[in-house]
Amino acid sequence: MLIDTHAHIFLEPFESDFDQMLERASGAGVGHILLPAIDAASITRCLALADMHSDPERGPVLHAMAGIHPSAVVEATEDDMQRVREVAEDDRVVAIGETGLDYYWDRSFDAKQQAFLRMHIQLAAACNKPLVLHDRDASDDLVRILGEEKEASDDPERIRGVFHCFGGPPDHTERVLELGFHVGIGGTYTFKNGGVPDRTATVPMDRIVLETDAPYLTPTPYRGQRNEPSHVALVAAKLADERGLTLDEVARITTANAKALFGLS
Ligand SMILES: [Zn+2]
Repeated sequence: MLIDTHAHIFLEPFESDFDQMLERASGAGVGHILLPAIDAASITRCLALADMHSDPERGPVLHAMAGIHPSAVVEATEDDMQRVREVAEDDRVVAIGETGLDYYWDRSFDAKQQAFLRMHIQLAAACNKPLVLHDRDASDDLVRILGEEKEASDDPERIRGVFHCFGGPPDHTERVLELGFHVGIGGTYTFKNGGVPDRTATVPMDRIVLETDAPYLTPTPYRGQRNEPSHVALVAAKLADERGLTLDEVARITTANAKALFGLS
């Protein structure tokens, strides 16, 4: 069994074929799909989907997250953050995310992104749930802030989680592992000349979880098309190839990692 730990299947590109998309995921061996929220409205959609898809006999089990994506922070209010806090303890919410920092698109609200990141980290520690982190061109600040929050925390072990769509570089990999975090391996791992397998070669298997980031970052050979959770099998196959493992071994290890990190049964 495989777990897609990061898929935005509540977005518009999945409206027309949602059930077929889940059937294909089942067919590819995907047993659980984790839904990272991006703003307050999407938290409600994630919870509704988790309610509708909680029976493993009827297809992949869907799990919600609560969080505000760093790129959505520009428009976010204290009320939105209050919504995240309200549902954080809910049993259907398996992680706080996605949060993090994105310096690629817009540098005009770095301070607000950092403030929201700290609120997410403190919330995750308070409710003892893992963080799902987005990092684009912001590795230094992200690692620094996580370190500072761990230092200031009464219970630093509670500050844990996954750097989603991880791509190195090696010195960053080291710092992420030192912080005790997992890394999410997705479509970029399969890109020819993408360099991600080399840059993540030192990550031990027990720190890896699989993901798609659907509808984005579609793996080879489907680049250019919409991504979906069934494609996590392509990521697993590439990881098996790179690490000299069987597909079964990769599935067993990454599924056990995801179950332990996110408390799935
Ligand atoms: Zn995402």
